[in-house]
Amino acid sequence: MTAFLALLALAALAAWWQVRRLRSADSARHAQELAELQARHAEALEAHKHRLETLLDSMIEGLVVLDPHGRITLANRAAEVLFGFSRQMIGGTLLEAVRHHEVAAVAARLGKESAILDHELRLEGPPPRVLQVNAVALRDPAGVGAGAMLVFHDLTRLRELEGARQEFVANVSHELRTPLSLIKGAAETLLDGAKTDPAALDRLLQIIDRHADRLTLLIDDLLLLAKLDSGRIELHPEPSALRSATQEVFDDLAKRARGREVRLENAVPAGLVAQADPDRLRQVLSNLVDNGIKYGRAGGVLAVSGRVLEGPWIEVCVRDDGPGIPREAQARVFERFYRVDKARSREQGGTGLGLAIVKHAVQAHGGEVRVESEPGQGAAFYFTLPAAG
Ligand code: ADP
Repeated sequence: MTAFLALLALAALAAWWQVRRLRSADSARHAQELAELQARHAEALEAHKHRLETLLDSMIEGLVVLDPHGRITLANRAAEVLFGFSRQMIGGTLLEAVRHHEVAAVAARLGKESAILDHELRLEGPPPRVLQVNAVALRDPAGVGAGAMLVFHDLTRLRELEGARQEFVANVSHELRTPLSLIKGAAETLLDGAKTDPAALDRLLQIIDRHADRLTLLIDDLLLLAKLDSGRIELHPEPSALRSATQEVFDDLAKRARGREVRLENAVPAGLVAQADPDRLRQVLSNLVDNGIKYGRAGGVLAVSGRVLEGPWIEVCVRDDGPGIPREAQARVFERFYRVDKARSREQGGTGLGLAIVKHAVQAHGGEVRVESEPGQGAAFYFTLPAAG
């Protein structure tokens, strides 16, 4: 009996031991599984955070998130660039980071309003900027204020382009209206009876003819510029000898040069060959030589020269010995419709688009154009084109 009891006790002990061993193996496995799960979670969280940061940093819009005390908890790269602050500003106030009261005032309004949409801000420079702000107040699930999120879109470039487009349309309308009103005036005078006077008839028809030509020239230049600007014009670059291209332009403009007694000098070395579209090259040279004749000194000299630069590129220079271009106007002469002397340009039949066409045609070849001028000592226009071969 005693032996039986002892056996029973031994069996119970063995069973208990077995259960304990199994339990402790189980809990060790559990602990290991838990640790692995935690590590996987941490990894996923890190990957998620990285993805989110990459996504926010790839946004064009600046994004700033504020805590309920108005301190920055998150800002993407675009916001840092827009306001010129560093990541160290995280934790600081919005005003400290952006240094614009107008921006901080938008965030402050979120205390009363839940969202501010499409709000446009004009920030004083330098540089002055136009920003569109979309801001929302954040709430936690219980509806308690949890800060704010502000998204900034930089509209500066867009507004500049809009301004330039409006100015361009106004300029085009003005340029078209001038010859049109002269044509209309001449036609009305003819209809009012001047057609019976042979001298008046001749004079008025000449006005009509001249200004119709001017309109055609203006429209041609506008269309060409629009094509060059949008990249719609196809270039057909081919080896183009610069000395002979210059000579052809001189031949075309010889009559105009004689009219102002300007001597044309072709100083381009033979053997300079550019890889350029011949039509565009002729246009560039023609506009520059024509300007030199129009605005240079009556009885003066207009010279075209050229040389090889590294690359190899070819640089061509069109130089006159006229009054030159005032320093403050030099950066602007390549703008559409910009003229130093409006009356003189119109009197010479200029459209105000010649140099803009030169710039675009040269840039379409990858080249550059610039002007150098000492007022009173002439103007020198330089442009570069890739060398052939
Ligand atoms: P435009 O049709 O008026 O000649 P451009 O675009 O060719 O238009 O030139 C713009 C302006 O630049 C001209 O109106 C003139 O005031 C100035 N300009 C151009 N070339 C010369 C030059 N060689 N000397 C002095 N002024 C020049």
